[in-house]
Parts: sequence; C-alpha cells; structure tokens
Amino acid sequence: MADFELLKELTQAWGVSGRERRVREIILREIEGLVDECRVDNIGNVIALKRGRGGPEGKKIMLSAHMDEIGLQVKKIEADGRIRVHRVGWVWTAALYHDQVVFQNGTIGVVGCCGNIEEARNDAGKLYIDIGCTTKEDAEKYVKVGDYCGFVGPYYELQNGRVSAKSLDDRAGCFLLLEALKRNKGEGPNDVYYVFSVQEEVGCRGATTAAAQVAPDIGISVDVTPDHFYPCDLEGCNAVGDGISVTLGDPSAMMDEYLVDEMLSCCEEHGIRYQRGVMDRGGTDASSINLSGAGVRVAGIALVDRYPHSKCSVISKDDVLAGIELIDRYTHRTFVF
Ligand SMILES: [Zn+2]
Repeated sequence: MADFELLKELTQAWGVSGRERRVREIILREIEGLVDECRVDNIGNVIALKRGRGGPEGKKIMLSAHMDEIGLQVKKIEADGRIRVHRVGWVWTAALYHDQVVFQNGTIGVVGCCGNIEEARNDAGKLYIDIGCTTKEDAEKYVKVGDYCGFVGPYYELQNGRVSAKSLDDRAGCFLLLEALKRNKGEGPNDVYYVFSVQEEVGCRGATTAAAQVAPDIGISVDVTPDHFYPCDLEGCNAVGDGISVTLGDPSAMMDEYLVDEMLSCCEEHGIRYQRGVMDRGGTDASSINLSGAGVRVAGIALVDRYPHSKCSVISKDDVLAGIELIDRYTHRTFVF
C-alpha cells in the first residue's frame, strides 16, 4: 500500500518553477539509501539511478516527473501596497481570484482584480495581491519585486477514494516515481533513471538537461492529464477513476508505437486498470526527452486530473495505485529494438 501521507506532504511543499528546493529536499530524503547513484544537477533536477541486473537486453530508461508548480512573480508594488504580478506557467486568472496565495517566505496574500474578473479574461496584469499593507514601504518589508508566490490548496480526502489538493500536477507524478522506486530491487534487465525535473511548467526545461546527461534509450513522462467528464472547456474521453492513462496523444511529442504497444500489453498482462489517454492541449517532459541527442523513443503515463492548474485538483487513489503498478511492471520488461 502506498503511503498517501507522503503525497500530502509533496502537494503542500512550496515549489514554483525555478524554486523547487523544498520539494527536492523531500525527494532526496525519501530516496536516500535506495539507489545506486543520485545527483542534483546544475539547475536542480534530481537524477537517481537504480541499476538493473545488466546484460545485453538491458536498456536505459528515464522516467521524468516534474517537481515545479505554476505560480506568479511580482513585477511591481503600487504606492497603496497592492502587488502586481505576471504568470509563471499557465495560470487561469479566474482560478486565483478571491483566493489566497503564499510567497516563498510564508507571507499570505489575497488576490483581487482591477475591475470585473470576467473582463480580465486571462490577463494576469489585471490582478493584484493584497497582503494587508496599505503603503509600498510597508509591503516591501514582506515582499519584493521578483519574489514568487503559489497557490494555497490544502490536501483533502473526498468521497470514493478521491483526493483534492494544489500541485497534484505533478507532485502526484513524483509520488508515483518514489513509490515505484521503493519497489524496484534491481532484478529487471534495465537501468532505471528516476528524474525529478525542474521548470516543466515554463517549457520542460529541466528534462532537457536531464536527458542530455542520462542519454536514455527510452523516455517516459509521468504527469497528469485532464479529465473530460465535468462541465469544462476540454474535450476527450478520459475520466478520473477509470484507471491509469497510457498516453496515446500528447501535442508536444509523438509517442513511440512500440513503447505504447508494450505499455498496453503490460496493463493487459498484469490486470492493471488503464485508459487510453489523449490530451489535445498542453505538453509534458516527453517532448524534451524525445528531441535530445539523436532522438529518443518516448511514451507517457498520466494520472487523470479534474480541475487541473487550480488550487483544488482532484485525482483518484485507485488510479495512483494502478500507476505505481504500471511503472514497476513496465520498467522490468525486456525491450527489443
Ligand atoms: Zn504537469
């Protein structure tokens, strides 16, 4: 059984893109003593290797889940103490409005809007953050230009084994990697690199440098993908609770046919509940791995997520358990190419 307290801890850690230190500390603590090699690269990726038994059929597999979360950065502090921001990653302005945000130093603010939120559309420049100060001088004691803030989104258990929290994108992916790593005793043929990447939300940057170092034969992004069965602006057939999603469509990368077939077979053979995932918007770390070196075969594993990029995303624990099982089984397979 997976330790969902760890998922809770991961979601509650503060880690806007480029400032992933607290998430990294949890991950390093969890993998200590479990891997053959572990390093933190120059931009903050955690690259942990668990060797397989080797042999000619062994491949180098790179799994990538990102540590960072979306947020905002301060660009100006007004004379009346209001804080003006721009977006870090894709943040819907409506998902922030009349809600709290938290800065890296713990300062809490409330997000308001100059005019009607409906008129702001997705212009984060119309938003402001109120930290309780009414002069610029007072506000600058707590927050400075260049500081980052992220969502406040507690971890709650909902009905039917569903959980809600901020940053399930992609701390849930980090959790899948950690739990799969804990099961890996190095008995399979493959060397498995567990990469906890930085800066995915601003363009899959961490996976770029990680792939350059690992030079994998196979790259797998482990991320979230949207649910399509609630009133929203997305279209497709993926639903929370219908199993782990095997990515067939990702606008940022073409999934390798052989790897996808193997993944579907893996689910069938081991009775892992899965769904065929097609994302018609967005992207994942698979894109960066795919175009590294001379090109790398990629595939994707995703947790279906309701209300993505909000402070209260929803996923299913059963999907999480299926995802851990899939990663464990898949990384132990023999790949022939
Ligand atoms: Zn993500």
